[in-house]
Amino acid sequence: MNFELGEEHLMVRSIVSKFAAEELVPVADRMDREDYFPSDIFRKLGDMGMLGITIPTESGGSGLDYISQMICLEEIARVSPAFALSVGAHSNLCLDNLYRNGSRWIREEYVPKLAAGKWIGCLALTEPESGSDALAMKTSASKNGDSYIISGSKTFITNAPEADMALVYAKTDPAAGRKGISAFVVEASSKGYRRGKKFDKMGMRGSPTGELFFDACEVPSSALVGTENHGASIVMSGLSVERAVLAGISLGIQEQCMDLASSYARERKQFGVTLSKFELIQEKIASMYVGIEASRLLIYRALQIMQRDRSRNREAAAAILFAAETSTRTALDAIQVMGGYGYMREFAVEKLMRDAKLLEIGAGTSEIRKLIIARELLGDGAK
Ligand SMILES: Cc1cc2nc3c(=O)[nH]c(=O)nc-3n(C[C@H](O)[C@H](O)[C@H](O)COP(=O)(O)OP(=O)(O)OC[C@H]3O[C@@H](n4cnc5c(N)ncnc54)[C@H](O)[C@@H]3O)c2cc1C
Repeated sequence: MNFELGEEHLMVRSIVSKFAAEELVPVADRMDREDYFPSDIFRKLGDMGMLGITIPTESGGSGLDYISQMICLEEIARVSPAFALSVGAHSNLCLDNLYRNGSRWIREEYVPKLAAGKWIGCLALTEPESGSDALAMKTSASKNGDSYIISGSKTFITNAPEADMALVYAKTDPAAGRKGISAFVVEASSKGYRRGKKFDKMGMRGSPTGELFFDACEVPSSALVGTENHGASIVMSGLSVERAVLAGISLGIQEQCMDLASSYARERKQFGVTLSKFELIQEKIASMYVGIEASRLLIYRALQIMQRDRSRNREAAAAILFAAETSTRTALDAIQVMGGYGYMREFAVEKLMRDAKLLEIGAGTSEIRKLIIARELLGDGAK
């Protein structure tokens, strides 16, 4: 197996790293303190072709692979994990799913706008009473002539407070359980589409998270994504790629933590020498390095496998499980290396710890990831 990056991957890394240094460094702290979402900067990433990174060029994208998308999120997360989360929700959860499953009309109508960043998108699956058990949703969509009437609500939706459209899952045949779910494109301007509150979060501040309400919201039947009652397969076909791509955010957090902790250890003196001379500090930096390398290999391997076989789930679950848990531990270690200063808000590492924790919850919790791995390994023995 070849883990060398290709020319296109290196190009994405260099373009996005420059973008992050120039555009995001100046606003990253404000995003956290004021929960500020820089929509103008988000749209610039669209102008650069980095929002529609996996979309073919004829539909307005860059025609690159999921490893490129993961690298894009990793480089953004080295500066702002929150911005990376919003980009991931837009580009992968919403746009990539829409392109892969939408009709020709949907591809022509919505994909170019989202790829260019003219519109911001979100994916609305989670509901107040169905998180891990997402397919137990209550939101319904009933056919009414040439339209569907959607009723219900969604919660914890990344980008919902800013989004121009949502990819929404609803039950079209409630009696059929998971075989009665369909997906719809719902424009924010639709009658009956209502944004609820924006959540005040522990971390990932600046990535807007909110509620959506559908009060008998009417959408044309052309808004159906894929075929009726096949929404669960859309959710499932996207989830593993989503996990492996979003794991890039955890990787970027680890790299940022190691950079900050290493620079600090080289400068700060105690007992007449720099912290970097203490072996207990060296151990932390060495562990950070191992965590980064191991996360990277798990993520690359998962994405390589999924590029040819989307039915495999355990590699992506393992990649994000390891990368996310390692990034929380790495952020805590970075705080420890920096002592009291690490605990202060003016040094970025306490923010990185708050940001890191989200990756153990969003896109399926650590517990659900372990269940996926165990069930795939044990087969019928796990039932
Ligand atoms: C900042 C943020 C952004 C998000 N963005 C989006 C988004 O864009 N779109 C979207 O649709 N959703 C989004 N989510 C929702 C996210 O996917 C859910 O929060 C997540 O799936 C967990 O669901 P829950 O919060 O309802 O927790 P619950 O499902 O209630 O879980 C609570 C606890 O019970 C554990 N648990 C549950 N079931 C089991 C089980 N079978 N075995 C063992 N333990 C179990 C969980 O692991 C967890 O520890 C976001 C969430 C957050 C916090």
